[in-house]
Amino acid sequence: MAIFQPEKECMDREQLKKLQLERLQATVKRCYDNVAVFRERMNEKGLTPDDVKSLADLAKLPFTTKQDLRDYYPYELFAAPMKDIVRIQASSGTTGRQIVAGYTRNDLDMWADAMARQLAATGADENSVVQVSYGYGLFTGGLGAHGGAERIGATVIPTSSGNTERQIRLMIELGTTHLCCTPSYAMYLGETINEMGLKDQLKLKAGIFGAEPWTEDMRMAIQESLGLVAHDVYGLTEIMGPGVSYECDKQNGMHVNEDMFIPEIIDPDTGEVLPEGAFGELVFTTITKEGMPLIRYRTRDLCTLNYEQCACGRTFVRMLKPAGRTDDMLIIRGVNVFPSQIEEVLLKVSGDEITPNYQIIVDRVNNTDTLDVNVEMSEKMLSDDVRSVKAIEDKIVNQLRSTLGIGAKVHLVNPKTIVRSEGKAKRVIDNRKLH
Ligand code: ADP
Ligand code: ZN
Repeated sequence: MAIFQPEKECMDREQLKKLQLERLQATVKRCYDNVAVFRERMNEKGLTPDDVKSLADLAKLPFTTKQDLRDYYPYELFAAPMKDIVRIQASSGTTGRQIVAGYTRNDLDMWADAMARQLAATGADENSVVQVSYGYGLFTGGLGAHGGAERIGATVIPTSSGNTERQIRLMIELGTTHLCCTPSYAMYLGETINEMGLKDQLKLKAGIFGAEPWTEDMRMAIQESLGLVAHDVYGLTEIMGPGVSYECDKQNGMHVNEDMFIPEIIDPDTGEVLPEGAFGELVFTTITKEGMPLIRYRTRDLCTLNYEQCACGRTFVRMLKPAGRTDDMLIIRGVNVFPSQIEEVLLKVSGDEITPNYQIIVDRVNNTDTLDVNVEMSEKMLSDDVRSVKAIEDKIVNQLRSTLGIGAKVHLVNPKTIVRSEGKAKRVIDNRKLH
């Protein structure tokens, strides 16, 4: 697989650290000079940009949080004059009020490089036909993937999301080789293509799927239904959009674009930096951004960083799939539950009886929290009346009780009855907020 910018992606780590320190120092200075809130926070800690003498000094700097982006909405965290801001994007607002990010021309340039690295890592080049089925607009997915595909010189088909039958028709007629969309939409496209009996007309080679959590089971299902190699891509609006980290063909963690972002793992409760390999909250410092550089931004995503050298030759650290977000945590009858834990139980039990399509519904009845898990059975299960639905439901209920310590109602539902998403999937419905 070609490497788009080997001089960066395979950089000697000592060199990389030197580059990171220089860029970090420049970014801290930029924020200190241009962002009043940041300057005040530094002053409160008795720090000036000159106190950043080594990469280890990063740990002294104040954090930035999502709440800051809300409090200083829309422009107070920008570190470039508005005349230099050429684009605004916004978070999809999965959690709470919308926030915005501003980009300068150089920022868009960096972003295109970051996504071009991802595309090249999937084997895409100027001969490829890249269909971008992420939503275009304020959401970073569409325009982010688009910029990278243009950068490598591929032929871009900007379908945006939705209108599934037309997506499929174009995919076949125009000979799409690379598909970019959310994993849930890829699942849906795959199902529909197979229903229409069109799989053998596809020319797909690889897909780049991200913007939401997905499991290895989903990866298998997507690879099988679309006949491609499925790569994971991670990003968030606050830091840039898709391409903050990208998966190579080893499919074993996503390389963080470390010449642009410095990752740290902290203890979400104490804010303490954790040692290499620990599991905790992922924090990013942008070191090239001009429009809205962020120092120590707390992503709320929980994961691990793997510093072992990857077999692909890239030296950038790999982040393992985020296991959930600190703010995804549900408190059900006083017990802390991450949706990803429920998903793990489903995977463990799954066999060939259930599919990775599920939905978690939390409610409050007579002042007691209730947890219902709907999960689609497989076509195979549906046609197989020997195995009883009840037995499988009970198995899942027992597993949930022993893993999470809480009771739940589990319902095996018919294939394709859980609503499909064209963007990010809605896995959790918490009706308690309505009461
Ligand atoms: P919102 O916070 O409104 O959903 P974004 O579109 O910026 O806005 O979403 C960024 C978040 O999406 C990340 O913080 C992370 O939780 C999730 N995410 C993005 N890519 C992935 C991925 N490949 N795997 C798991 N989660 C992801
Ligand atoms: Zn690799």
